[in-house]
Parts: sequence; C-alpha cells; structure tokens
Amino acid sequence: MIASVLPTYNRAPLSFVSGEGAWLTEADGSRYLDLGAGIAVNVLGHANPELVAALTAQAGKLWHVSNLYQIAEQQRLADMLVEATFADTVFFTNSGTEAAELAIKMARKYWYEKGEPNRTDIITFEGSFHGRSTGAIAASGAEKMVKGFGPLMPGFVHLPWGDMEAVKAAITPDTAAILIEPVQGEGGIRPMPDADLKALRALCDETSVLLILDEVQCGMGRTGRLFAHEWAGITPDIMMVAKGIGGGFPLGAVLATENAASGMVAGTHGSTYGGNPLACAVGARVMEIVAEPEFLAEVNRKAALLRQRLEGLVAAHPDVLEGVRGQGLMLGLKCKVAPAEMVKAGYAEHVLTVPAADNVLRLLPPLNITDDEITEAVARLDRAATRLA
Ligand SMILES: *Cc1c(COP(=O)(O)O)cnc(C)c1O
Repeated sequence: MIASVLPTYNRAPLSFVSGEGAWLTEADGSRYLDLGAGIAVNVLGHANPELVAALTAQAGKLWHVSNLYQIAEQQRLADMLVEATFADTVFFTNSGTEAAELAIKMARKYWYEKGEPNRTDIITFEGSFHGRSTGAIAASGAEKMVKGFGPLMPGFVHLPWGDMEAVKAAITPDTAAILIEPVQGEGGIRPMPDADLKALRALCDETSVLLILDEVQCGMGRTGRLFAHEWAGITPDIMMVAKGIGGGFPLGAVLATENAASGMVAGTHGSTYGGNPLACAVGARVMEIVAEPEFLAEVNRKAALLRQRLEGLVAAHPDVLEGVRGQGLMLGLKCKVAPAEMVKAGYAEHVLTVPAADNVLRLLPPLNITDDEITEAVARLDRAATRLA
C-alpha cells in the first residue's frame, strides 16, 4: 500500500521536534549538530530569536492579501535587494523552482519584445539543478530527473560543465540566455572559476545573450559574499534566489536589470502567494543581518577555520576522504566511499550532512555557526570517517 506521504524521498529514520541555532532535537531529547541547515536554507540557524520576532510580529498583523494590492513588506524587501545588488527590479516567488520558471520566461519574453522571437534557446550545464518543474528539469536535462516525464520543454542546450570552448561554439542567433550556478550545489559543490565566469560575462556582452545566474543555493551569504558572483567581479542580467533568503520561511525571488526585465509588463506573470507580507517580513530581517559586511566577514573567518580543519580530516582519513572543495560555508568533501555512507555514519555520530553528486558530501551549516560548534562538528565527522575505515 502506498504511504500516505507520496514516497518520492528516501527519508532517514530521524524526526526532529525542535531546533536551536545549529542544533536539532528529537522527541527523546537526543541532539544533532546540523551541517545541512535544511539544505542551505536556515542561514541563521533554527528558531533564531530575531526571525521568530519578525515572523510573530507580522503574524499578528497580516499574513496574506494577494498581489492585487500594495504590500509594504514586499516593497521594503525589494528595495533592500535592489540597493544591495546589480538588480533594478525584483519578483518574489515561494521557491527556487518558481524563480527558475520566471527566469526562463523573462529571457524568452525579452527577445520576443526585441523582435527576435526565434531567440528562445537557453544554454545550461551538465550537473546543474534548477528545480523540479517541467521547465526546470528540462533545463538540467539530467537523466534521473527527466526520465518518464517527457515530452520535455524544448529549447535547452546542455553543455559539459566548465567547457568554455563548447559555450562559444554553442552560441547561435537563436540563443536567448546562458543559465548557470556560480557554484553547483546538487552537482557536487563545483565552483565555476572566476576567470570562466568573467569569460561568460564577456561572451554575453559580445553576443547580447542574457546571463542568468542560479544563486538559489550559493547566494545569501553562503560563499562569504552576499552573492557568489561578486567574487568574480561580474553581474548577471537575471538572478534566481531562494533557499537562504527566507531563513526557513518559503521565499524566493528573481532579480533583474531594467533591460532584462523590460518584457515583463502588467499581466505577463503572477503568483498568488509570492511576496506575501509574512514571507517578506522574515526575508527583510534575514537581509538586514546577512548583508552586513561584519556578518559576511565572520562567515569568511569561520569558513577558513572549517576548511582548515576539514583538510586535516582528509589527511587523517585518506582511505575514506579525498579532498575539500567549495567556497565559504558551502563546502564539499570528496569521498572515496559513497557519500550516503558518510551521511549514515554521521547520523550515528549525531552530525547531519547532505549528499550530492560526484561523490561529494555537502557541508552547508548555518552561517552563524560558532567556532566551538565547528570544532565539535569536525570531531564528529572524524568519528564518522573512522566508522567507515
Ligand atoms: C534547491 C535549488 C533549486 C530549487 O529550489 P526549490 O526551492 O527546491 O524549488 C534551484 N536551483 C538550485 C541551484 C537549487 O539548489
């Protein structure tokens, strides 16, 4: 008999009833150190008092009115994002997948309005993940996501990750946009080198192709800058954000330049819930905290500490671990065993991690994890690796 919850996940036999900072607690009181943060979502940890206050204050006033009306909290968060980034305009969604859908629509509409309706192709990359809608799985093209769900949305050109020559060769008069994660998350914490991101920007400038960055996982302070592309000194035309922006409350956004968004006039897109007062009140508090230079400096300091400890861990377990990669607090441990085995061994040591493709174990702790918790986390990972030796 089918489970009452549609069985699309292989869930661990763990169930948490409360959380505090980087810790999660089960009903029997056992505590787990959380290096997954709800898959890069809880950037300020669990039950963060500042976010609880923002949420409850708004909850007592107004939850939802729809986008038929002005929403002050949405306006405020949009202004903050415009102020802090390349963007001139923002559309709010409830998830990363919905942000992907709008990014795709926006790029196609842009060329339609420019009088080049043939320009609909979007270049994407092997190992990419943009969500689970029919459009987003077509964008990724990964066999395990698309198999059985055809016919797929046409218009995506899939290229090998990091092959800049292939990108140059793939651009045609039908190319609307390039869509890429500056650091692949699900694909195994694979950062695109700064030089390649710069080259992509230059190529887009030469050809007028729009550059869409998917920062759903690597954005919102995760890499030690507010957005990962800042490391390369470039800006996109369109950017997808979600996960961390709500600090655990469902919220996503598409940020764009005035030019890239020029086709999206009244009536061309919408969302019932997107940008509701509750989500935006929390998102604004997350932005106020995470976008602070002092906060981001701390992320970088802690990231250096964690990375150094992880290098030591790899050196101590050469039969289980192969190397560390990633940026900021978006780190991957390349494993010599199946990463799922490391995740399981971590459960036994009460430390939570997330597997990814390319044999990588993902570490995506809350950005406000403490130095002591980093020490404790590495001690637990050390014991987990010992179990597998
Ligand atoms: C998680 C993720 C998405 C999809 O976001 P959802 O909120 O799960 O819809 C898209 N792109 C990237 C890079 C992601 O990590």
